[in-house]
Amino acid sequence: APLQDSDLKNIAELGMGNGGSVMKVEHVPSGVVMAKKIVLIDAKPSVRKQILRELHIMHRCSSPFIVSFFGAYLSEPNICICMEYMDKGSFDSIYKTIGSKGRPNEAISGPIPIGIVRQLAKRVLGGLVYLKDEMEVLHRDIKPSNILLNSEGEVKLCDFGVSGELENNVAKTFVGTSVYMSPERIQGSDYSVKSDVWSLGITLIELAHGCFPFADSEVEEDTPIDLTALTPISSLPSSLPSAQRHSRRKSRGVSLQGGVGTLSILELMHHIVREPPPTLITPSVPHSLEFTEEAAQFVVYCLKKDPGERMNPRDLLEMGWMDDTGRGEEMTLRMWAGTL
Ligand code: ATP
Ligand code: MG
Repeated sequence: APLQDSDLKNIAELGMGNGGSVMKVEHVPSGVVMAKKIVLIDAKPSVRKQILRELHIMHRCSSPFIVSFFGAYLSEPNICICMEYMDKGSFDSIYKTIGSKGRPNEAISGPIPIGIVRQLAKRVLGGLVYLKDEMEVLHRDIKPSNILLNSEGEVKLCDFGVSGELENNVAKTFVGTSVYMSPERIQGSDYSVKSDVWSLGITLIELAHGCFPFADSEVEEDTPIDLTALTPISSLPSSLPSAQRHSRRKSRGVSLQGGVGTLSILELMHHIVREPPPTLITPSVPHSLEFTEEAAQFVVYCLKKDPGERMNPRDLLEMGWMDDTGRGEEMTLRMWAGTL
């Protein structure tokens, strides 16, 4: 039977994103617990039907690295997408709450242990290879909030770009902007799976550091925003900040944690295109000095600004850091999930 609202009982709200909210629900007839994503769609009926058709291809998506799909339906004016519920949530909420619970184990706080980040990278790459080879899609939105964990220790991707029409019609505040976007995407060039690799590189640094890597980048004072360098303009937020607002505000660094201002996003995008990429090992994050060269190199290959030099998921899986042998001291994902 097709999924419908009347069969779903709300259990809890799991989170709220830019384009909608996610509820933990029980499918009463089957007793299956699911995550129901409610997306507000601003489109006419024909487009809604098109979106549902596009989402339908998710039924043939089956990978240990991708959340499974139960179905999607219209619930005017929303589209509801029901997927596998991941009981440990997403990695952004995991790392943001880890340090703040006052847990006795001092070793587990804020940053995600590097061995866990390593194992996560391997699963995400597995997911990217699957999406490309089996589904012929790019993910397009790799970031900590779209990487989920369950108590089995499984790491899976959600919210990937199967439906172009869905992307085009979600009523979002920031349209098509993300601080995880690769330089070539920001500049409006053609992009490929390597753009997802860039987003993975940023994500790995964020999780291993316990903070977003550009959060304390220096942005030169009085640097005017060169909007022409940020083509296509269509991908920028619809409410562009005015020039006066920029000149009034003396920008000292891009502050991203908490409320993300539109202006900061523009400045950050400019920064991503112009400046050298962030690195895993950096003096401003003292605990990062203990990371291995092998880990640092891996991230360097994810964050080559020129997509021609950047590695693809398959080749990254062959790098030394992805080899599990001789890592007996590393906590397994399952054990670690049990500590959360
Ligand atoms: P954005 O809208 O910018 O992409 P987001 O990814 O945080 O941000 P949503 O995709 O709406 O926004 O998800 C909101 C939150 O719901 C996530 O951060 C995550 O914690 C939680 N969530 C999403 N899907 C699941 C799921 N399948 N199982 C458990 N929790 C989930
Ligand atoms: Mg999401």
